[in-house]
Amino acid sequence: MKINDYNFAGKKAIVRVDFNVPLDENGNITDDTRIRGALPTLKKILDDGGALIIMSHMGKPKGKVNMKYSLGQIRDAVAKALGRDVKFAPDCADASEAAAELKPGEVLLLENLRFHPEEEGKPVGIEKTDPGYDAAKKEMKARQKDFSKKLASYADVYVNDAFGTAHRKHASTAVIADYFQPDQKMLGFLMDKEVQAVDNILSDIKRPFTAIMGGSKVSTKIGIIENLMDKVDNLILCGGMTYTFAKAQGGKIGDSLCEEDKLDLALDIIKKAKEKGVNLVLGTDCIAADSFSNDAKTMVCPANDIPDGWQGLDAGPATRAAFTEVILPAKTILWNGPAGVFEFDNFTAGSRAIAEAIVEATNHGAFSLVGGGDSVACVNKFGLADSVSYVSTGGGALLEAIEGKVLPGVAAIKGE
Ligand code: AMP
Repeated sequence: MKINDYNFAGKKAIVRVDFNVPLDENGNITDDTRIRGALPTLKKILDDGGALIIMSHMGKPKGKVNMKYSLGQIRDAVAKALGRDVKFAPDCADASEAAAELKPGEVLLLENLRFHPEEEGKPVGIEKTDPGYDAAKKEMKARQKDFSKKLASYADVYVNDAFGTAHRKHASTAVIADYFQPDQKMLGFLMDKEVQAVDNILSDIKRPFTAIMGGSKVSTKIGIIENLMDKVDNLILCGGMTYTFAKAQGGKIGDSLCEEDKLDLALDIIKKAKEKGVNLVLGTDCIAADSFSNDAKTMVCPANDIPDGWQGLDAGPATRAAFTEVILPAKTILWNGPAGVFEFDNFTAGSRAIAEAIVEATNHGAFSLVGGGDSVACVNKFGLADSVSYVSTGGGALLEAIEGKVLPGVAAIKGE
């Protein structure tokens, strides 16, 4: 079922959103992008005359009640965003009465799903290597079904709008869908857009296709790097992983970030790129700092000749120019991961150069997708989020989708 074709009048809808928003030490929301992202779906349900039950996780409470992660903290913000009162169910697994009493136009927010271990469905207090693990897992999967059924019993229709968790087969993201008929379950507007954006990148690729992968480590990105190698014309690898590549090729990297156990992997990536005819672009110079801090002393030096006591924290001017040159003519662009420690204002130049080149390429007709928490934070920091084609709310989910994996959250609804 497509959400646009559904009339929620007189129906109760249970919607999985990703309200895992960052909070400061006083419980104030520091970035409400995720709440704003879900509004089109939530408003459609209410405007149609439906009743709304909102469910989400927050943080990693690991199956236990921990008020630090209570969704009660964001109740007022949700009410403000929706422009109406929001009722609150302090236990998501004990909300039958509150759900039954809900009238059209009313909103009920459920407490953090992950206060119950059934949400993630992982056995608690037992390691994978322990003898009874398989039995415990089986028992937890049965409990997960009951928990999902309970959540499903609150509503007539299920909507999944939580792209950020779509790569997880959790109770609220996938298992719950089993308890709804095909015409009673659907993706929300945000999910639909995300799936479409990935589709744009993977099918009907306009060339040249340039992917920019940054961030701290090569180990967390290896799956997508290998997958992209079959698709892209240019692959820019930047950020902290630059130095693992530099060291693997015999360079001197001082105190820069390095994954010693990934040196062979780095060489393998270089070799594969050559074999596949992918133009692999790595940083040649960097901005080195004498400490990991915004106020560190800095100098520009070759990325493969950094003195001891210094560490590469951003892309140097020659590298920035090389990146820009590759990005500008691209017609399809994917960016995940910053080119430096962009959280420090003095080390944003590499990420900024990438963002600006992407914007310019987009202005010339490229489709540009920026995804993953930190690259999104970058485009937000530079005020350029509206100037790229699409900013994805998904980190892991986006990468897995681009790796070509089927996302359980999407499959559960589309029946793939
Ligand atoms: P990831 O979570 O792997 O996408 O990495 C994002 C993080 O990588 C950000 O917090 C950046 O500060 C960090 N990062 C980027 N470049 C470097 C670098 N050269 N050295 C250390 N950290 C970096």
